[in-house]
Amino acid sequence: MSELNLILLGPPGAGKGTQAALLTEDFGLPHIATGDILRAAREAGTELGLLARRYMDAGELVPDEVVIGVILERLGDEDARDGFLLDGFPRTIEQADALGAALDGQERGLTAVLLIDAPDELVVKRISGRRICRKEGHVYHVDFDPPKHADRCDIDGSELEQRPDDAEATVRNRLTVYHQQTEPLIAYYEQRGLLRRVDGTRSPAEVHDHIRATLATLRLEESL
Ligand SMILES: [Zn+2]
Repeated sequence: MSELNLILLGPPGAGKGTQAALLTEDFGLPHIATGDILRAAREAGTELGLLARRYMDAGELVPDEVVIGVILERLGDEDARDGFLLDGFPRTIEQADALGAALDGQERGLTAVLLIDAPDELVVKRISGRRICRKEGHVYHVDFDPPKHADRCDIDGSELEQRPDDAEATVRNRLTVYHQQTEPLIAYYEQRGLLRRVDGTRSPAEVHDHIRATLATLRLEESL
């Protein structure tokens, strides 16, 4: 069986996390998310991890070459031998180039870049409508999964609140940053014939089915 080397792209609220969990379960791929990896490298105390730590402890952005080094180190781990699922990396064309060159050097390649897409207005509606109960963190949505009594948790009666990160203005800022960062990457991978678009407005089960069908087609083409 050939490797399944995947990158996940998509705006916040398009369901990337859910799909990553399902793909990890389907194929046993390690889910490699940049923030987690930097934290893990810091804790493992590798040379690059310690370097990353210095920036993180100072509250500074970890420079590109350190992030790239940590990710590439992670892709060399035993559990990533048959494939990986990258999430949150690459973020820039420079990172994408570095990743491509490193994979080439190991005679590996990307299988596909999955773009789980959803229009901004849907993303804003999905995220800004979330309400969380103060006591236990039960999650509701004002339109899609409303509580029986306004602003009260059905289970424990505690007050529901909106997380600051979920406020509409914050979501719109995140979307602006997302579009600025990601659109060049979408074009980059489209030019290389690697981009596969998935409709993130569908239910998580439908999105999952679409991704599985896409990957099955790619593997079939590969084997011909
Ligand atoms: Zn609750």
